[in-house]
Amino acid sequence: MTAPFLTLAQILNRLTLTAGRTLREHHPDPEGCCPLCRAPDCAVASAAREVLATIRLIRWRPGR
Ligand SMILES: [Zn+2]
Repeated sequence: MTAPFLTLAQILNRLTLTAGRTLREHHPDPEGCCPLCRAPDCAVASAAREVLATIRLIRWRPGR
């Protein structure tokens, strides 16, 4: 059930929620290992971090 037309703010909100949840799920354990991927450098977590950083960048300059 996806609405066909979303505003940019709605898209960014959904991306933020998804990336935030992904980041929590792939949060490294005390040894720095991802509990889902079982890898020390989780590619999923770094991708989610980049998404969040990019969204923050976009929100800093609204409409420009
Ligand atoms: Zn992971």
